[in-house]
Amino acid sequence: MAGKKKQNKEIIALACTECKRRNYTTTKNRKLQEKIELMKYCKWDKKHTLHKETKVK
Ligand SMILES: [Zn+2]
Repeated sequence: MAGKKKQNKEIIALACTECKRRNYTTTKNRKLQEKIELMKYCKWDKKHTLHKETKVK
C-alpha cells in the first residue's frame, strides 16, 4: 500500500478587523482561492466582529 499523503489543508488564522488580534485558527483547502471572512465573537471587543483570514507562521 503506497500511502500517498497530500497536504491540501493550510492552517490559517482569523484576525479581528477591529482590534487586529488573531482570535481563531482554522484550516482551509489550498485550492480555495478566496479569502475567508467570518463573523466571530471577539473576546477583546466583547462582540461579534468580522474576522479575516491571515497567514500563520
Ligand atoms: Zn477584536
